[in-house]
Amino acid sequence: MDRNPFKVVIVTGVPGVGKTTVLSHLEKRAEEEGLKVKILNFGSYMLEFAVKEGLVSNRDEIRRLPLRKMLELQALAARSIAEDASKELGEDDYLIIDTHALVKTAAGYLPGLPRNVLDHLKPDMIVVVEAPPEDIVRRQERDKTRFRADLGGVEGVKRLMENARAASFASAVQYASTVAIVENKEGKPEETASKILEHMKKL
Ligand code: ATP
Ligand code: AMP
Ligand code: MG
Repeated sequence: MDRNPFKVVIVTGVPGVGKTTVLSHLEKRAEEEGLKVKILNFGSYMLEFAVKEGLVSNRDEIRRLPLRKMLELQALAARSIAEDASKELGEDDYLIIDTHALVKTAAGYLPGLPRNVLDHLKPDMIVVVEAPPEDIVRRQERDKTRFRADLGGVEGVKRLMENARAASFASAVQYASTVAIVENKEGKPEETASKILEHMKKL
């Protein structure tokens, strides 16, 4: 079995669907239940490397970098996440990675979880967080801390969701990861966190 000692859950979903919000609720819930989870944001690792090189000043600029640079940052992030997790986590613990199965770039859709990334992460499960595209666009518009206006509104989000689902399944094949599709209902991020946690406990 090609796995890490700890369980690995990759959480994906289009920008603004609510991954980071849901995972902050999941962290609290897991702690209450006595589960050790480490939640790492893939984009934050890429951002740290990109800022060090003076390439970007915020996370929404990463997807506008030249493609080869993005791939380099992606590989660095995957390696670094696996190293950090291995230092801390044991057999009963969970690594949760907040990331994307597909990134919309000017050069086309970039897979967020290609083979070289998966070789480091070896996921047990890939979660696809979804919501009605209209709700997602409203969330994007309400969130003034981020720039997500380049994603093409309701039509752009709808297309990205369809293709991101396909990308999640393509990535899942590499390491026999399960795919769990979870709806993040409007106003109910705690409920979404519980659903993910229930799936995790079955791994
Ligand atoms: P990105 O991929 O760009 O990091 P994300 O999927 O992590 O996006 P968040 O930053 O968690 O998305 O959420 C985007 C916005 O939507 C935030 O303002 C958040 O408060 C809001 N939000 C998250 N979940 C819900 C929900 N279930 N109902 C209503 N609003 C939500
Ligand atoms: P996030 O905060 O999740 O939106 O992450 C910030 C940015 O990091 C994203 O908009 C992408 O440009 C980039 N990113 C995150 N995860 C990946 C990934 N797996 N592959 C490529 N780029 C990624
Ligand atoms: Mg996020």
